[in-house]
Amino acid sequence: YFNNETVLYLDGKFVKASESSTDLYGQTLHYGYGAFEGIRSYETEHGTKVFKAEEHYERLKKSCELVKIPFNYTVQELVEATYELLEKNNLKNAYIRPLVYCAPNMSLTKPTSVSLMIAVWDWGAYLGEKLLRLTVSSYCRPHPKSIHIEAKICGHYVNSILATTEAKEKGFDEALLLDSDGFLAEGPGANLFFEKDGKLFTPQLGNILPGITRSTVLELADELDLEVEQGKFTKEDMFQADSAFYCGTAAEVVGIASVDDYQFPTNWNDSLGKKLQNAYSLLVREPLKQNPFN
Ligand code: PMP
Repeated sequence: YFNNETVLYLDGKFVKASESSTDLYGQTLHYGYGAFEGIRSYETEHGTKVFKAEEHYERLKKSCELVKIPFNYTVQELVEATYELLEKNNLKNAYIRPLVYCAPNMSLTKPTSVSLMIAVWDWGAYLGEKLLRLTVSSYCRPHPKSIHIEAKICGHYVNSILATTEAKEKGFDEALLLDSDGFLAEGPGANLFFEKDGKLFTPQLGNILPGITRSTVLELADELDLEVEQGKFTKEDMFQADSAFYCGTAAEVVGIASVDDYQFPTNWNDSLGKKLQNAYSLLVREPLKQNPFN
């Protein structure tokens, strides 16, 4: 993720990653009490574009607010810092990882002081280019009354790591998690859509991370006049579907071949997911209409 030349943004300054360190007594390290984002930038005909930068930093702000972590930045200053950071690291197509983490404090009270870092690196297709073979996880997504499921909080990702590890140990590419009531929820780092009889279905908000890519896919589906139903769906609903896909910033739009023993019958190239994958790929590379520094 970094070499001797890599530059980080840390508390308002650009510093060398190789010369940066953190303390061992922070609440983020011990308790997973921190918030982060995952953003991508793309090379366009008119320069680098950070896709939906404002939406991602707004979500970071909201994540912090929901769990009472101070957020001392404006979205605009972080967007500008991100563009500058990409330039300093000579990156155009990049993955961008902002992290808000807490200063030393071993108590279980809200932090007095926090830091914000942004790292950038070159990251190819997160789940690969191939169609995915999924397995339904034995782990369910955390109950929304236990945590703020709509926030992107570090500690929530223990659940994602457990599900991914279990899926890979069973020989699958990726997990699919149900919610605590047994309805379809999402992947460890992506949202789910499936197609049946020319219509799309996706789990409603409430038990999932409200993905920014999920919103983009809903907008694209609307532009393409595709019908989408958001609701509570079961595994059995999905086991009658024609095709399915995951979407997320890191994964982008990626087709699903099968879930456990069920193979989706429609050829991916003929699916609505493929149409949306193409539309997404074009949209993220569309030049910005407005200067991001305004
Ligand atoms: N669900 C989970 C659990 C995730 O970690 C992610 C990745 N942030 C997503 C869905 C997709 O969200 P987004 O499209 O905003 O990247």
